Amino acid sequence: MAIVTINRAGIEQTLDFLKQAGTQHVECVVLWLAKNLGGALDIQTVYRPPQIAKRDFFRIPQESIVELMTYLRQNRLMVAAQVHTHPGPAFHSLADDTWAIIRHVGGLSLVIPRFARATSAESFIRDAAVFRLSEDNNWEEIRSRELEHYLQVAL
Ligand SMILES: [Zn+2]
Repeated sequence: MAIVTINRAGIEQTLDFLKQAGTQHVECVVLWLAKNLGGALDIQTVYRPPQIAKRDFFRIPQESIVELMTYLRQNRLMVAAQVHTHPGPAFHSLADDTWAIIRHVGGLSLVIPRFARATSAESFIRDAAVFRLSEDNNWEEIRSRELEHYLQVAL
C-alpha cells in the first residue's frame, strides 16, 4: 500500500489556504494531488477547489469537480487526500462522510481543528485527525501510532 508523502512547502500551502478561510470564520477544504511513485503517493499540488463554505459547512459544486477531473487528467495526478477545517474539534461528521470527495479505498481525510488557527507545519500531524476509507466504505480514524504507515511529512 502506498504511503502519502508531503513536504514542508505542501503543508505550508495547505495551512495558508485553511487559515485564510479561518480568518473569515469559514471552513475550507483542500485536496492533496499526488503522483503515484509505486511505494509512495507523492503530493505535487495542494489544490483548493472553488467551493461554497460557511462556518461549519463546505460543498464543492459540480463545476468544480469537472474542473478538478480535467486538471487531474492533464497533469496525471490523483487525489490522495482531502484536508478540511472545523470551527471546533476535529472529527469526521456525518456530512463529511456523505460529501467526501475521496471515494477510493485507502484515501485519506484529514480534519484540522479550530480553523487551523494554532496549527503550524510542526504541529500539523499532531493536530490533525486522520481518517482512511476502509474496504467496507467506512471512514476509520487512524491512531497516531499507526499514522506513519499511511502518511509521512518531510519537514
Ligand atoms: Zn467536517
